[in-house]
Amino acid sequence: MPVLVMKFGGTSVATLDRIRRAAKRVGVEVAKGYDVIVIVSAMSGKTNELVGWVNETSPFYDAREYDAVVSSGENVTAGLMALTLQEMDIPARSWQGWQVPVKTTSSHSAARIEDIPPANIMNKFAEGMKVAVVAGFQGVSPEGRITTLGRGGSDTTAVAFAAAFDAERCDIYTDVDGVYTTDPRICDKARKLDRIAFEEMLELASLGAKVLQTRSVELAMRYKVKLRVLSSFEEQSDEAGTLVCDEEDIMESKVVAGVAYSRDEAKLTLLSVADRPGIAAAIFTALSEAKVNVDMIVQNISEEGRTDMTFSCPTDQVARAEKALAEAKSKEVLNFSEVVADTGVCKVSVVGIGMRSHTGVAAKMFRVLSQEAINIKVITTSEIKISVLIDRKYMELAVQALHDAFDLDKAA
Ligand code: ADP
Ligand code: ASP
Ligand code: MG
Repeated sequence: MPVLVMKFGGTSVATLDRIRRAAKRVGVEVAKGYDVIVIVSAMSGKTNELVGWVNETSPFYDAREYDAVVSSGENVTAGLMALTLQEMDIPARSWQGWQVPVKTTSSHSAARIEDIPPANIMNKFAEGMKVAVVAGFQGVSPEGRITTLGRGGSDTTAVAFAAAFDAERCDIYTDVDGVYTTDPRICDKARKLDRIAFEEMLELASLGAKVLQTRSVELAMRYKVKLRVLSSFEEQSDEAGTLVCDEEDIMESKVVAGVAYSRDEAKLTLLSVADRPGIAAAIFTALSEAKVNVDMIVQNISEEGRTDMTFSCPTDQVARAEKALAEAKSKEVLNFSEVVADTGVCKVSVVGIGMRSHTGVAAKMFRVLSQEAINIKVITTSEIKISVLIDRKYMELAVQALHDAFDLDKAA
């Protein structure tokens, strides 16, 4: 039997009614003759609640116990989905990550899937089971402990299963009907794309578009998984949603394909750092040992042997970064006067494969922002994206102005 992977996100399993509605969708595919692997998220809001409980109990928590707690939301929805399917006379059972097993690395809270042996689930399909409902977001480490894959990780579970079972397709059911030119929740003119290239989706995801977890796009690209994003709230045809595919399979070609934003950014500046060889190494080694994910970096010109160094990182890592830098200073690994943190910034990016061959995109982006009187604090570019750090209060305005300026509301 051909295998199909169907993933339902938090809002799609938020109530028993919605689980029933999702189960009906699964029933439609079973009736077509597929063996289905359903990947479920926790009910929407559940994972946030669990993370909140962990933080309240233990601010500098043991990541193994964090995973034990936050993985539990998916166990509930997996069991409920299997029961709902059984009520519909569809042979189904649930699987937690360790039961499959979904083997991962031991980097708790950000583990990577290493292997999913298909034998256990395949044997059950051979015995007549039609649907394997798997708890997303979780796996098991070589030490036998529960791990999680980072926020939004159920997308990655889904794509990894599609690759491991050589599925015909991986359908990601969510609360929007596809991938848009930008987040439709902050820009009315956002337009749904019928197709998007893997590279563009990868950039958009890594720059904040949370419709797919970055790692899921990476895996789909590497293992050539046919990946589709669609709504769990609408009746679906085979053409619905957005197909994430190779660049060659796309007719539409625009210089800029989309705008992404990331709200939770912070900018830290080390003032008056002694400017000598090895200084960047000392700063960023201290930060990486403290597991701070540094994104943008700027070093100013030095004056009289001292310089300022600025970097950005997620807001929730600021305390950890400050602690690591203070320790490095006290051990005399580093010499600076003070660290200034600005936690009121966000990152806005434009993404498009067309930038490889077109010039002037950066100039246009900066002009648009200046027309809105938005000050740019830090800039980074790569082959197919330009990102700026700006005050968070201008985030929606910047996204909307850029969306307009690059004509993203109109098809190519
Ligand atoms: P799920 O719980 O189904 O995994 P998520 O909340 O993780 O859903 O992702 C879907 C959300 O992603 C949408 O509700 C939307 O607000 C947001 N989003 C951000 N950027 C985009 C985009 N470019 N296209 C579609 N949705 C986007
Ligand atoms: N429930 C997890 C989260 O909220 C995983 C997911 O939904 O993809 O991050
Ligand atoms: Mg998600």
